[in-house]
Amino acid sequence: MTNHKYKLQELQQLDAAHYLHPFTDHKELRNAGSRMIVRGEGPFIYDSEGTEILDAMAGLWCVNIGYGRDELADVAAEQMREMPYYNSFFKCATPSPVQLSAKIAEIAPPNIEQVFFGSSGSESNDTALRLVRHYWALEGKPEKNIIISRQNAYHGSTVAGASLGGMSHMHKQLGGAVPNIVHVMAPYAYELAEPGESDEAFGLRAARTIEDAILAAGADKVAAFIGEPIMGAGGVKIPPASYWPEVQRICKKYDILLMLDEVITGYGRTGEWFAATTFGIEADTITTAKALTSGYQPLSALLVGERIAKTLVEKGGEFYHGYTYSGHPVCCAVGLKNIEIIEEEGLVDRVRNDTGPYLAEQLAKRIAVHPLVGETRSVGLMGGIEIVKDKADRSRFQPGGSAATKVRDHAIANGLMIRATDDTLIMSPPLIWTRETIDLAFDRLLVALDLAE
Ligand code: PLP
Repeated sequence: MTNHKYKLQELQQLDAAHYLHPFTDHKELRNAGSRMIVRGEGPFIYDSEGTEILDAMAGLWCVNIGYGRDELADVAAEQMREMPYYNSFFKCATPSPVQLSAKIAEIAPPNIEQVFFGSSGSESNDTALRLVRHYWALEGKPEKNIIISRQNAYHGSTVAGASLGGMSHMHKQLGGAVPNIVHVMAPYAYELAEPGESDEAFGLRAARTIEDAILAAGADKVAAFIGEPIMGAGGVKIPPASYWPEVQRICKKYDILLMLDEVITGYGRTGEWFAATTFGIEADTITTAKALTSGYQPLSALLVGERIAKTLVEKGGEFYHGYTYSGHPVCCAVGLKNIEIIEEEGLVDRVRNDTGPYLAEQLAKRIAVHPLVGETRSVGLMGGIEIVKDKADRSRFQPGGSAATKVRDHAIANGLMIRATDDTLIMSPPLIWTRETIDLAFDRLLVALDLAE
C-alpha cells in the first residue's frame, strides 16, 4: 500500500537537486531516481509505494536485531531526556559509555581490556592506525610504523580508512594515501589459488606474503598487520582454515601487532560474539561498529588488548586523539540495550547452532546447483555466491561484475535486497532470520537467477 506521508516524485526531485549520496554515480542516479525506503519491520523493509522487500543485507551489514524495535527507540528517548550529550574529555564521563565498555570487555575475547568509542567504522580504523603507531612510539620504537594490509580489503572511507583498505579505485581518488601502508595478497582461493593447489596450501601461501612484506621492509619497521577475519565488502572472502593461524604465527615471530577489523563480523554475525573466536585469533586491536547498535545509532568501538592497554597506562602521556562524539551517551545507551537483546534472544547461539548451518546447507543444496553459480560459501549469517559463465573453468561473463548486478536487480525487483560486488552476490541478513526466512529468501533468489540466465 502506498505510504501517503511521502510524495515520491517530490522527494526524488529534491534528492536529485540537493542530496549527494555516498558511493554513487550521480549522473546515473539523476536518471534513475532513488527508491525511498520509509519503514522497516522485523526482517522486512518497505518503500514509499508500499513494496515489501526482504532485507538480506541487514541495511549495510548492521541491523542485526531487525527493524522496528521499540526497546531501542525507548532507551534512546529516555537517555535524550535525561542527558542528551556530554563529553568524556577533561576527566568527565557519562555512565552509558562506561557501562558499555565494561559490557564489551565482558563479551570480547579474554585479552581485550579497554574500549575507545567513535561514530563509525572508518573513524575507528583511524583511531586504530594512530594507536598502534603511538604504542610503538611509547615503547621507544617510533620507526616501527608500517602497516601491512591486503589488496581489496575494505577498512572505511576516511583518508586513513581508504589508505588502509586495498580498493584500487578508492586509492586512485585519494590523490595521495597515508604513507607506510603496504598491501599483500587477499586469501581468496576461488580466484587466486593455482590449479591443483589445495585450500590449505593456498592459505599458507597467502599468509606468507605477509612474511615476505615484513622481510622486505625489515621487521623493525613494521608496526602491525590489519585484516578483516572475512573480507566483507570485497566479496565475502572466507580464508582457508590454514590462513589465520599462520598469520598469527608470523606476527608473533616478528613482534608485529595484529589488528582485526570486525566492523562487519562483530556482535554475532559468525555465530560467536566476535570472529576472532570463530577463527581462534588473538588480536591486539579489534575495530567494531555497525551491529554494536544494530545500526540504530552511529557508534563504533575500538577494542584494545592488554598489551597496548598496559603500555598506555604504565607509560602515560596523552594520546592526542578523540572526537566530540566519542562515547556519545545516547548511542552507548542504545548499544547496551542492543547487546542485551542479542543476549536475551540467544541470537548468537541461534546463528552458531541453527540458522548458520542451515544457510550453508541451503546455499549448497539450492543455490550452488544453479547453472550461473560457481561457488557458494558462508560462515554464520554471512554468505557469498559467485556468478560464472562456466562452472568448470570458473570463467566470468564479463570481468567487473555485470552478471551479478543483473541477478541483484532481478532479486530486488522480486522482493529480495541483496548486494553485488564484482561478480559476487553477498548477503548478511539480520540475526533474527529463521529457517523460514532463509527459505523465502532463496525462493526469491532462484527466480532472479533464472531470469538472469
Ligand atoms: N571496516 C569494514 C570491514 C567495513 O565493512 C566498513 C564498512 O562497511 C568499515 C570499516 C567502515 O565503516 P563505516 O562505513 O561505519 O565508516
